[in-house]
This record gives sequence, C-alpha cells and structure tokens, in this order.
Amino acid sequence: MNIIIFGPNGSGKGTQGAVIRQKFNIPHIESGAIFRENIAKGTELGKKAKEYIDRGELVPDEITIPMILNRLKQDDCKNGWLLDGFPRNPSQAKALWEALQKEGMQIDAVVEIVLDRETAKKRIMGRRLCENDPNHPNNIYIDAIKPNGDRCRICGGRLTVRSDDQDEEAINKRHDIYYDEKNGTMAAINFFKELSKKNNGIPRIIEVDGRPPVEEVTKELMSKLEALLK
Ligand SMILES: [Zn+2]
Repeated sequence: MNIIIFGPNGSGKGTQGAVIRQKFNIPHIESGAIFRENIAKGTELGKKAKEYIDRGELVPDEITIPMILNRLKQDDCKNGWLLDGFPRNPSQAKALWEALQKEGMQIDAVVEIVLDRETAKKRIMGRRLCENDPNHPNNIYIDAIKPNGDRCRICGGRLTVRSDDQDEEAINKRHDIYYDEKNGTMAAINFFKELSKKNNGIPRIIEVDGRPPVEEVTKELMSKLEALLK
C-alpha cells in the first residue's frame, strides 16, 4: 500500500502515521528525514540540497523528487510506503505524481486528516505533560482528556508544558504554509483531489475528520484504508 498522508500540525498525523506503519508493515517516511540522511551521507543530491538549504531557499524539484524516489525504492518499501511531509505545494505534488507515473509506481491513497486551523492550534497549545508518564494524555482544550484541575487526569501527577508547544509564532508559521490554499499544502491536497476527479478516482482520496478522540480517528482511518484492499 502506497500512501501519502496530510494533516496540519496538531491533527495527530504522527500518531495516525505510526498506526498505519504498524498495520500495513510499511515504513513511515518523513521528507525531512530524507533530506537529513542525504546530507549526512554526502550524496550528490544531498550536497546540492544543502546549498539551497544553507541559503534558506526551497530545494528545487529536480533535487527533491529524485531523492524521494530513491527512498521509495529501498528494500524496506517492498510492502509499500507512507510518505509524510511532502508535497507541500501544488507544483511539488504535480512533479511527484508525474515522477511516480514514469516509474510505474502508484499512489493507493491520499489521506487527509481534516482539522480547522483554530482547533489544530489549540490542540498544540493545550498539551500538558505529566511528570510521571509522558504517555498520559492531557489537553486543556480537549474534553475527553482534560486534566483534573492542574493535575494529570490519570495519575494526579504535576503537569508541565513543552516550550515548543507554546511557541505561537512557530505554530502560526507552519499553519500558514499548511492552510495556504493557493501555494501551500492545502493546494497540494487539492491538486490530488482534482486529479482524482478527472482520473476515475485515482488516486483514491481518504478524508478523515480529525476532531474526535485519537482512537476514533484511527478507527475511521483504518476502516477506510482496509476498504481499499477489498
Ligand atoms: Zn500522569
């Protein structure tokens, strides 16, 4: 199963990605990691990419696309792959689609975890960390996992915040890119939606409501993905 996953920061995309990875036994490929690996190993593409990154410029498709294709052809992708973090704009989406077509590789599903910007932001900023166990979920803006006063709802432990989660400027910057329907990630998603309409439903688009509790989102996502296999 070859899957591209989209979702804003705060939508639980990482969590859902981990479930998909396990369920379908496919690697969760994060585009940032592909860059870091190529740069660390000093590959030709990595060296070129680094020049752009060092200048603070967007790495062009001629470098990015081959890097991603190389990754998707590695041995661990024999059951498929889950691509996360790419494409982030419509031109990257088009270039990726065309490159995959050329390679005879298909996209079985484009998954979008749908969550409005305001909720996504609250999800991040409302996170509270339990001093006893980082896996005790607490969020002041999510009713299902609201802390017990200022204490962990599971064990009563003291709660703290991650400073990253309170960096509103950084969150807004990422969301600016994600929610940009003209040149950003939303436009990339719309590229696939339009393509699907014109192309007999290929690639398949799977939209999942990101508002319910994590387990419910997982359930909806899994049932929709499993339906594709039948
Ligand atoms: Zn706790």
